[in-house]
Amino acid sequence: MRRTRAWWRGAAALALLLLAACGGGEGATSEFVPLPSAAATPSIAATATATPEPNVVAAASPTAAPDGDGVIVVACGDPLVPLDKRHRLEEDCAPADLRPVPAAFAWGSHSVAAAALGPLVEMLEDAAAAGHRLVVLSAYRDYEVQRGAFRSHVERLGLEQAERVSARPGHSEHQLGTTVDFASAAVNYELVEAFGDTPGGRWLAERAHEYGFALSYPRGAEAVTGYQYEPWHFRWLGRETAAELRASGLTLTEFLRRR
Ligand SMILES: [Zn+2]
Repeated sequence: MRRTRAWWRGAAALALLLLAACGGGEGATSEFVPLPSAAATPSIAATATATPEPNVVAAASPTAAPDGDGVIVVACGDPLVPLDKRHRLEEDCAPADLRPVPAAFAWGSHSVAAAALGPLVEMLEDAAAAGHRLVVLSAYRDYEVQRGAFRSHVERLGLEQAERVSARPGHSEHQLGTTVDFASAAVNYELVEAFGDTPGGRWLAERAHEYGFALSYPRGAEAVTGYQYEPWHFRWLGRETAAELRASGLTLTEFLRRR
């Protein structure tokens, strides 16, 4: 197969997104890493605890007492569980109803939970109508893919810096299937802070809540969220909850911990 310049750029973009934390961080963009096969064929196996209707808001109560490290294991199948340094999903927790993101809006193959797909496509269509061509660079990632991403960050950056830009396996919002990283040509389809200052990035920050999405890691909130600013990383909560979050003035991290 003749591999064009565009093909290589696509492959490189796919590779770097797999390094991404929740997303990635600027340090993640300079290196080509082979695409793990697990990412090309994300596990769609439902677990016994996954609910068939992820948009059903269940109680966010943890399913277990804190483990030895003080980390709380949260319920699988609830889209509104807190997921941060203190809360994680079980290793085998996966959405029961993953759907592919339409190719017109994706760079590579990505899936999201069914409940998030309609709002995602509507948002991207409206963004395009407003002149902002945004694409999905990463969406659902299973536990094993996240394990590899975190390990890769530790190898390249050291543990302390990796913790600021990458979630440990089980702690990533991407494992929910409702979280998406966006990029655009304006940032060469890379996950970089500069995205937040592009017209498309600003449009998302201002409008995403109307579609039920929220920015998980705002600028200047690392002391609360545990992660550096990620203007590309949005989690779907449903319109009502996203409106409540916006009205609260809290970070998503604080808001979900208080539910
Ligand atoms: Zn992300």
